[in-house]
Amino acid sequence: MKIRADLHVHSCLSPCGSLRLSPREIARRARAAGLDAIALTDHNTALQVPAVARCCRDEGLICVPGIEAHTSEEIHVLCFFDHEATALAFGKEVYDRLPPVVCVPEKMGDQVAANEAGEIVETVERFLANATGWTLTELVERVNALGGLAAPAHVDRPSSGLLGRLGFVPPLPFPVLEVSPRYDRERDPEGLAPTYRLIAGSDAHEPEDIGRVSEAIEVAERSARGILDALRRGVATPS
Ligand SMILES: [Zn+2]
Ligand SMILES: [Zn+2]
Repeated sequence: MKIRADLHVHSCLSPCGSLRLSPREIARRARAAGLDAIALTDHNTALQVPAVARCCRDEGLICVPGIEAHTSEEIHVLCFFDHEATALAFGKEVYDRLPPVVCVPEKMGDQVAANEAGEIVETVERFLANATGWTLTELVERVNALGGLAAPAHVDRPSSGLLGRLGFVPPLPFPVLEVSPRYDRERDPEGLAPTYRLIAGSDAHEPEDIGRVSEAIEVAERSARGILDALRRGVATPS
């Protein structure tokens, strides 16, 4: 069956994410946008995954547990998992590799986790938008060892995109690459399409952005595992 997924969504826990992106609001917006699935990909943390996943289930949606991890080269990588527990465990490893810089909300943004009722249940101390101590190679190895899937995010973006930072795609096991919404996939100016399957997500930092960009994905099973299996097979097709 074919499903529609926005595989790059932030919550109120990301310092640059709107405080309106509560778990319930994310799920409602995703459903209203006609999506079947989202991936929650906050910067360097998975703490908001359980509440968002519960709200998604209430709306009949799949939530792929994820993290947008930052490498030591300042490359953003979407890390997808098929179990919440694995994402949470990986999230702890990621957090432990962040520099001990304390987030000052007035200057750096709020880093709050909310429950299903929209109540703040946790404030995260370390600034989440910093680079971890992991190199790209180390990060990809760790994600794969945990059974996850690593997809470099918005590769064409000059800052924090793989091509912008390195100028090339290194020979690592990437089943898919994420391009930014403004990348012209028809013209494919970076020549990626012959070698890599490309996906795009909204990179929503405001509720209104959720589902603005999505992928049609042919899945054998309506679950996070089904989506990961489909991405590994490279059957994502342009919207
Ligand atoms: Zn990013
Ligand atoms: Zn992002």
